[in-house]
Amino acid sequence: MNSFRNKLLQFMQGRYGPDQTFYVLTGIYLVLVFVNVFAQSWILHILSLLIFALTMYRVLSKNIIKRQIENEWVMSRTAGLRKRFMKAKKRYEQNDDYYFKKCPECKRQLRLPRIKGKHTTTCPACGHKFSVKISWGREK
Ligand SMILES: [Zn+2]
Repeated sequence: MNSFRNKLLQFMQGRYGPDQTFYVLTGIYLVLVFVNVFAQSWILHILSLLIFALTMYRVLSKNIIKRQIENEWVMSRTAGLRKRFMKAKKRYEQNDDYYFKKCPECKRQLRLPRIKGKHTTTCPACGHKFSVKISWGREK
């Protein structure tokens, strides 16, 4: 087993290996495979194989500079998407304790303590007063 590990390390020496783009591609691949369980489309099947081949090609590539440039390109193109995803994830994690509501006046996102019932709140940004109804949460 150890010699297999050594052989693998030797094989990977000087090769690019996984980067952030690797995880993006793997994510796309897994979504395609999952969707295709239901869709049963040969186009999706070919596409997922191509993405898998591209992922493997990049990991095993010895042209490290070119792969780094590709990775930076992908990272800059997905920056907005990744930021939105992280925001949604953070909000989901806080959902039990906080209620998120946009101010109807200035559209700023407010994070309110999740206390069940009807409340009046004041937006800290623009001072607009509005009522909020929270259907579930802590009792007062
Ligand atoms: Zn406001």
